[in-house]
Amino acid sequence: VGVFYRPLEKIGAVVETYPKGIAGFRRYAALLATAPDIVDRPDAVAAPPLRGDIRFEGVRFGYAAGRPVLRDLTLAIRAGETVAFVGPSGAGKTTLCSLIPRFYEIEAGRISIDGHDIRDLTLASLRRQIGIVQQDVFLFAGSIRENIAYGRLDADDAAIRAAASRARLDGLLETLPEGLDTLVGERGVKLSGGQKQRLAIARVFLKNPPILILDEATSALDTQTEQEIQRSLVELAQGRTTLVIAHRLATIQQADRIVVVGENGIVEEGPHEALLKSGGAYGRLYAAQFGPARHAVQT
Ligand code: ATP
Repeated sequence: VGVFYRPLEKIGAVVETYPKGIAGFRRYAALLATAPDIVDRPDAVAAPPLRGDIRFEGVRFGYAAGRPVLRDLTLAIRAGETVAFVGPSGAGKTTLCSLIPRFYEIEAGRISIDGHDIRDLTLASLRRQIGIVQQDVFLFAGSIRENIAYGRLDADDAAIRAAASRARLDGLLETLPEGLDTLVGERGVKLSGGQKQRLAIARVFLKNPPILILDEATSALDTQTEQEIQRSLVELAQGRTTLVIAHRLATIQQADRIVVVGENGIVEEGPHEALLKSGGAYGRLYAAQFGPARHAVQT
């Protein structure tokens, strides 16, 4: 499952969500027990405003010693580019993305943003510039306003409203007598899956980071809601370097580049049409998931 498992207190300004369910909880609990503490280096500096030119150079990483998930991974993502990661479950798509906010320490190689090794930057200044939207949205007990402003407590009302509006939360807010001040969570209004997704999108609009990581939902939303959310996500990605852990056909086709991750790292990369034409791993994955490519190209 594509979820970033982090202790709540460390989520800080970056992760907009939290793992749910027993399986998620188990993995989360396991991480609590084993994750090495990632802290600022003594000489770490605050990151300048980043453009989002991301480079992995010879990166090796595994959760357990001797069991690497990524081996010698090299990948360059241009500022402003949208890259979709596809591949079999467990290949390491989520892992790869979770290294950018430095949730884990790599064993070898280097990850840089705009030429800065991310280990030379303070965690707070790095994570402030990365937004994450996941399928499980974490809401805390409080108002919708507080939940949107999560991670940006200095935000003023106009900015919060603008973010809500861009995430198309207005319709919901109008139906609630207390609008932005409506309480959510255990004692408050129960939001639907789609409404929670919009709230997570509003958080990122407000935060306005140059780098965005989207961990797409695989199910749970009806088709219309899913399409609306998809449109909001496309807007959210505008002007940002966006990494998508992709499951949906639309996102994959619209990405500037698709990176196919297999058990032994990156298998192939390129735009949708080019990969389909070359008839390699992507073509097979695509056919398996969405039917024969010939048909899909015409649609
Ligand atoms: P999916 O499409 O199912 O989300 P993925 O390609 O994103 O898969 P990852 O979630 O990155 O794959 O998992 C890569 C490997 O690392 C898997 O073998 C997985 O079991 C393991 N793994 C992922 N997260 C953790 C964790 N927090 N602790 C230990 N192992 C993990």
